[in-house]
Amino acid sequence: MVNKRVPFVDLVAPHHELEHDLVSVFRSALQTAGFIGGPMVEQFESEFAQFCDTQYCIGVGNGTDALRFALLAAGIRTGDAVVTVPNTFIATTEAISQAGAVPEFVDVDEQTSNMDVTKLREYVETRCYRDGSNGRLVSRRTGRSVTAVVPVHLYGQMADMDPIVAIADANGLVVVEDACQAHGAEYFSAAENSWKKAGSIGKAAAFSFYPGKNLGACGEAGAVTTNDETVARIVRMIRDHGQVRKYYHSIEGYNGRLDAIQAGILTAKLAHLQDWNEKRRHAADRYQELLDVISDRVALPRSMSWSRDVFHLYVIRSEDRDQLQGHLSKSSIDTGIHYPIPLHLQEAYRHLGYRIGDFPVAERLATTILSLPMFPTLQPEHQLLVATHIREFLSRSSHYSVTAAAN
Ligand SMILES: *Cc1c(COP(=O)(O)O)cnc(C)c1O
Repeated sequence: MVNKRVPFVDLVAPHHELEHDLVSVFRSALQTAGFIGGPMVEQFESEFAQFCDTQYCIGVGNGTDALRFALLAAGIRTGDAVVTVPNTFIATTEAISQAGAVPEFVDVDEQTSNMDVTKLREYVETRCYRDGSNGRLVSRRTGRSVTAVVPVHLYGQMADMDPIVAIADANGLVVVEDACQAHGAEYFSAAENSWKKAGSIGKAAAFSFYPGKNLGACGEAGAVTTNDETVARIVRMIRDHGQVRKYYHSIEGYNGRLDAIQAGILTAKLAHLQDWNEKRRHAADRYQELLDVISDRVALPRSMSWSRDVFHLYVIRSEDRDQLQGHLSKSSIDTGIHYPIPLHLQEAYRHLGYRIGDFPVAERLATTILSLPMFPTLQPEHQLLVATHIREFLSRSSHYSVTAAAN
């Protein structure tokens, strides 16, 4: 057995392997000094749109920009309310607020950590009313028009999109997917009797290419995908100071473009994404086999029949999470918590007036979840080490009343 640190992610190894390709991207950018826009960006946009089965892909500066621009282009206006989940990275709600709207939350499903469709239905039926004059959905909490729903495909598992889309359609809401953790994940749509790629289901979707994501740049990058020609056109304008032609500004936009060098790097890496996702799935299967014997005491990720997961993260749940994490840390195994404080209880959102108990599932998850090392080059012997130390912890701590979060 190897006797060394098990890192949470390894971002160095894949770059060693691809060094030649990545350096030649940089070289060709130097030769033309085409650093912003141009053919390298267009090539990536076209290849990533193809990968996602969408008509359009628009490269932008990062995932937060992607979500903000997608919301703006999908028609979200200042003063609106946008529904999402409380257990996501703050970028989801930053994008909503910075598009001028106010985030509202519905709780998640404990098994999947994704939006609980029953809670979304309940939100629409009991926490909103219809404006008599225009039939629009209005939040009772804030009196604002609810105009969009942002499901997050958390950890690389698809949110249950069929019912989300159905509820959204019935209530005049736009669906914008936060696909920042789900490059290549697929959803089986019973409504359409076909598998659909993450990013191809809503009106628009946001991807992040932050280095640690399943597809990562060597710096900051992001993209919007959509099948809607108008949304694509507006995102293209918004990312480039609201101009279609240089110095002719139809609207105020942002400086939110994708670097040519990052686009070239992403094109080189995109060719490996399917293989990397496959390796993540194998690693998840290995964890499943190794941890199955203790699955009554730690809850393992549950794959839903309608989701082909890409395991951006491999997240287990334990009632003794903090002690378990401490034990693994002492055993040189790095882990993470995604995320320790649900957004409705963050200092940054104190003004929204939420309280402990408002979203009990998300709150419970925040205290029980633990992300184990997960990356394409994770070695079986590392995983054995992780599993061995988890079992060791459980046998030592058997005097605690250890009960796995209900399975
Ligand atoms: C990474 C991430 C983002 C934001 O992406 P950046 O590129 O870091 O701006 C948004 N939402 C989720 C769920 C993410 O994981």
